[in-house]
Amino acid sequence: MSLPRDRCHECDPEAVFDLADGGLGPARKREVRDHLEECPGCKDLYGRELGLSRSLCSLEYAEIKSGYIPRSVAMALPTRRLSARFMWTLLAAALLVISLLALELHRSDPIAPMVDFLGMFWGFLAGAADVARASLATAAPVLLVALGVGAALDLIIAAAVFTALRFRRA
Ligand SMILES: [Zn+2]
Repeated sequence: MSLPRDRCHECDPEAVFDLADGGLGPARKREVRDHLEECPGCKDLYGRELGLSRSLCSLEYAEIKSGYIPRSVAMALPTRRLSARFMWTLLAAALLVISLLALELHRSDPIAPMVDFLGMFWGFLAGAADVARASLATAAPVLLVALGVGAALDLIIAAAVFTALRFRRA
């Protein structure tokens, strides 16, 4: 008995996952392998799942294997984690560019950007301090000291910049 043509073209990611996992019966295995030959997308997925199965030494993947994480979630994991990692890299790069730009602005005209930056920083500090007081009552003193040290450092830097500026203009 041969399968209907359209069934051969059906994509079944879960079956691909099972094939990589070695959890398919001989007949279904042949079916899925046949599909892989015709479908580059599923073949690509199979390759990725094979790599996933091989990296079982990591705790997370061991948990997937032992069934703590639902299969549908496990299947979505490789791409999700990759895109999340990409987003973090992007965020870090953006922060780096922003801080470099801020530094560049300080050099050319320290007053206006410096005041803007300080305002933003103080806003952030006040918000962070509120959150710390509300939710982390026991850790608040430590956090506030850390924030205070950060604020003091910022003030010292600001004072140094303003002093240098006044000295240059005098
Ligand atoms: Zn397919």
